[in-house]
Amino acid sequence: MWSNSSVTFRDMETTEIQCPRYQAIRKHTFRMYEKKDKAYSVLTMSTEQQVTVVCHGCLFERQLEEKLEEKLLVKFAKEDLIRSAFSLSERVKH
Ligand SMILES: [Zn+2]
Repeated sequence: MWSNSSVTFRDMETTEIQCPRYQAIRKHTFRMYEKKDKAYSVLTMSTEQQVTVVCHGCLFERQLEEKLEEKLLVKFAKEDLIRSAFSLSERVKH
């Protein structure tokens, strides 16, 4: 986890998965961290992303498997695109 002040996070969606502490199915939230790195230049601003999962029961936050994390990052990126396209068309309509 980064300790940089330019890191923000968003809670993306909830899911019901196994909690390693309760040893039972609990509600969890996928949390996406984004680190905006402006160190190089404005033009090549890079964004690093990381997804964790937070348990609603014990509030334990843990890292995801790399494969699952990649899958979720792609999914959230698509949802962001759809959302911004939708809000754009909403603006055109009104
Ligand atoms: Zn838990």
